[in-house]
Amino acid sequence: MSSDFTSAVGKVFLVGAGPGDPGLITVRGAECLAQADLVLYDGLVNPLLLRLTQGACERTARARRDDVVIVAQSDINARLIREAQAGRKVVRLKGGDPYIFGRGSEEAAALRAAGIPFEVVPGVTAATGAGEYAGFSFTHREMSSAVAFVTGHEDPARIGSRLNYHALATFPGTLVFYMGLSRLAEICEQLQVAGMSPSVPAAVVCQVSLPSQKVVAGTLETLPALAAAQKLKPPSLIVIGECVSQRSQLSWFEELPLFGVSIGVTRPEEQAEDVAHQIVRKGAEPVLMPMIEIGPVNKHHETEISRVLRQLSQFHWLVFTSVNGVAEFFRHLHDAKLDTRRLGNAKVAAIGPSTAERLLDFGIVADVVPPEYRAESLAKALEKHVRGKSVLWVRASRGRDVLPRMLTDVGAVFAQLVVYENRDVEKLSPEVERRLTTGTLDWIGLSSPSIARRFAQLLSLSGIAANDLKTSIATISPVTSAAAREAGLTVAAEATHYTWDGILQAIQRRRTNRSAQTSLSGSLGSK
Ligand code: SAH
Repeated sequence: MSSDFTSAVGKVFLVGAGPGDPGLITVRGAECLAQADLVLYDGLVNPLLLRLTQGACERTARARRDDVVIVAQSDINARLIREAQAGRKVVRLKGGDPYIFGRGSEEAAALRAAGIPFEVVPGVTAATGAGEYAGFSFTHREMSSAVAFVTGHEDPARIGSRLNYHALATFPGTLVFYMGLSRLAEICEQLQVAGMSPSVPAAVVCQVSLPSQKVVAGTLETLPALAAAQKLKPPSLIVIGECVSQRSQLSWFEELPLFGVSIGVTRPEEQAEDVAHQIVRKGAEPVLMPMIEIGPVNKHHETEISRVLRQLSQFHWLVFTSVNGVAEFFRHLHDAKLDTRRLGNAKVAAIGPSTAERLLDFGIVADVVPPEYRAESLAKALEKHVRGKSVLWVRASRGRDVLPRMLTDVGAVFAQLVVYENRDVEKLSPEVERRLTTGTLDWIGLSSPSIARRFAQLLSLSGIAANDLKTSIATISPVTSAAAREAGLTVAAEATHYTWDGILQAIQRRRTNRSAQTSLSGSLGSK
């Protein structure tokens, strides 16, 4: 995609991030993020969206919270102007739609006054997100011919700031209140006083389009008490109108197979994208917690790489044992201005389905993928092919020595090429520690024996006893389960297909079994 940031003067992009699900940003919004130098995002933005940018990211918040510094609107405006004047491309990323209760128009007006070019990208506002993700159609041929977005929290400085409840009570359609939860009882009561029937359906929808989405539905009369009886997490909307009763037919999001489940992803950051995406699409929350960091190789390995890449065609076999090994190998090849023809007639082996899939991205169909995702199985599958043949193992700086041992034993001429460094992460992040100790992380997926071992070490470094862990563990394969158990962890689910998708399916099977059991015992819980 060509860049539209060619001028020396900067520009500000006011972008709507959508209500929560990171898939709900617009294509244009994603393009802006991809090209930004700086992203200033507000407290409602899902941080997963920040993965779409290489720019620096800073959070601005107007609501008070322990861990967040409040930034005044005038400071945000001044900052946008300053950064653009310095020639930067700035994305101002705002929850929902920038102009719906979002003060985006104030920011645009300040930019215009300062002579800064800007573009505004709409977003899915919380209300429309709630309509689709909770299952209400705000307008309907038979039930509702209008919809109103109303603020439940008005600027106290504004003259005549009280809502006109009479006008709202006679409105011919759906009412959606933003920022109104703390005044729910007052709103419901005043609408009835103004003549609305107490039996009109009404609902509170919290955390729209996120795995933590929650809907409490009742009527104007019953909703305040129903909502007060629940622990409701902001942000939330109040929806009033006949459409609330459609939910039984229209809801789909809360029925997704892993809805509401949080899953720790232990893969290196660079490889977490696909997995995080799959998790979100199943209605679950990915919690990124890499155990291993991947980095570039040192000078010595670099020299070795450029030497070996020029002699690739002398190898009979190339063996790949990780997705990252594949990606890094081809990056080095392309950096050296070479391409796949250098492989000559070499055969290619991959340790498992994910590695084979990554090879396909480079146009290579693996000749051997062992039935089991483990080095022993790979060595066995290769034994009959490699006697007297030269084999190049493309690998990380650390790894097991099974392949060189077993293949040299059967007479292969074995060489190794380190294409990336892998280092252990030093500690768990404070956020992951908090979630583990408070039991607010449901599952962790472990996708290799070394990741399993490192996770156990990091737990003990954080002072968390493995047998106190409230989080369930799912592993990618029997070898990984064995390593996890050896390190003192309890394995609750194991993949039958040795990929991250397999891990998610294993978690899904466990949940289905468990909810079948709980419904047998008469409980309503689905987690
Ligand atoms: N510009 C935003 C609204 C910002 S005002 C938009 O278009 O959605 C903040 C209010 O928006 C919150 O108090 C809440 O009422 C609503 N809101 C924002 N995100 C929400 C979400 N994910 N779920 C429910 N309500 C949300």
